[in-house]
Amino acid sequence: MKVLKFGGTSVGSAARMKHVAGLVRRDGDRNIVVLSAMSGTTNSLVEISEYLYKGNVPGAQETLNALETKYSGVVEELYDTDEARAEARRRLALSFGHVRSLFGVPFTEAGEKEILAQGELMSTALMQVYLESQGVRAVMLPALDYMRTLDSGEPDMTHITSRLQRLLQMHPDADIYLTQGYICRNSHGGIDNLKRGGSDYTASLIGAATDAGEIQIWTDIDGMHNNDPRYVENTSPVGELHFEEAAELAYFGAKILHPACVLPAKLNNIPVRLLNTLQPEAAGTLIYNAPASGRIKAVAAKDNITAIKIKSGRMLLAYGFLHKIFETFENHRTSIDMMATSEVGVSVTVDNDSRLAAIVDDLKEFGTVTVDRDMVIICVVGDLEWHNRGFETAVMSALADIPVRMVSYGGSDYNISVLVRGCDKLKALQALSEHLFN
Ligand code: ADP
Ligand code: ASP
Ligand code: MG
Repeated sequence: MKVLKFGGTSVGSAARMKHVAGLVRRDGDRNIVVLSAMSGTTNSLVEISEYLYKGNVPGAQETLNALETKYSGVVEELYDTDEARAEARRRLALSFGHVRSLFGVPFTEAGEKEILAQGELMSTALMQVYLESQGVRAVMLPALDYMRTLDSGEPDMTHITSRLQRLLQMHPDADIYLTQGYICRNSHGGIDNLKRGGSDYTASLIGAATDAGEIQIWTDIDGMHNNDPRYVENTSPVGELHFEEAAELAYFGAKILHPACVLPAKLNNIPVRLLNTLQPEAAGTLIYNAPASGRIKAVAAKDNITAIKIKSGRMLLAYGFLHKIFETFENHRTSIDMMATSEVGVSVTVDNDSRLAAIVDDLKEFGTVTVDRDMVIICVVGDLEWHNRGFETAVMSALADIPVRMVSYGGSDYNISVLVRGCDKLKALQALSEHLFN
């Protein structure tokens, strides 16, 4: 059994949905198909929630009406029979009706989560009706019946595995299984989600829970490219990545993968294949326990980073000092991405600055604190085991014209990270492509 996840663009229109239906049917195995919301839908649902938080019901109404019109067009185009159209309209009406039922009542975070869940509920409903109209026994595995997080926000693997196994056993005669990406329940049973882009994470959690043979992430590009194609020209796909390399790239900004999605696959040694819906025969990228490659493979960038320096001539690096610094971040539930130490100071970076003022205040007890905002972590990934010579020199010489605030090397065998100003991001990414890949 494989898990096949299709992203928003892949199911973004009636024509795309038909194309995906063809792809999921072609290997005949009883695979689990995970769908995102149709592209643009989650953004519209976020917008509706923003209007409702501000008490602007007409704004929410207008956005919802526009979305409903779009879905009416999809229904007209997708199905051949009136019967299928009527069934699809009935299923969509449940979602649109649910969103409308939240208008005019005090709006809460729980309401927002319910609204955000409708995109995946609608895309999977449309696909199920379509597959059934084509004579395919497509069984729905409702994500809200098995996908659950713990109080910590981590996935509840025991619950997910047992519920999913039971659902699968209940439907042994299915041709394929369909399920929603992104949505889940929290530890209190309320509707929740796995954060934006979370359908990739759903796919790998399902892969882990079912011990799948492979997890396929189908998207709008032919695999992980060696640099961010949104900012750099002439990028090219990377054929193979080690789990650790893919995890670093995803965590440090390669949007093609949700940051958390590699870990469940890595722990269970399940290969992940990144494939292009628009070009199904392209090789894409295979993520697995790849052998050492002896080269640099790709670059990614993570925006909106804040660097914090704590300088203290007196007690730095004395026993227990770093512990106190880390404890401060822990007390404010803020995780550290990069760090650099010297005899007189330590610099760390965070991507979540919601507790920054309080953190800085607490750190002042230990030394002089300075803060640099709007920074970017540039992450270079490949076979960077320390005995390999010349790679760190190549990275730094590519960045010779750019002010570098921090460097981190040796934390793993797969990564060199440098911190630069946000305004230097493009220049840095382009320079690295030119020096390392062209
Ligand atoms: P989906 O909706 O299918 O989940 P995403 O938009 O989340 O798709 O991810 C695919 C996009 O990721 C690509 O269109 C591309 O713009 C972006 N991207 C960023 N960095 C990379 C990279 N290194 N390789 C490939 N795509 C990348
Ligand atoms: N629909 C969600 C989003 O747009 C989840 C996903 O597409 O992965 O973020
Ligand atoms: Mg995505």
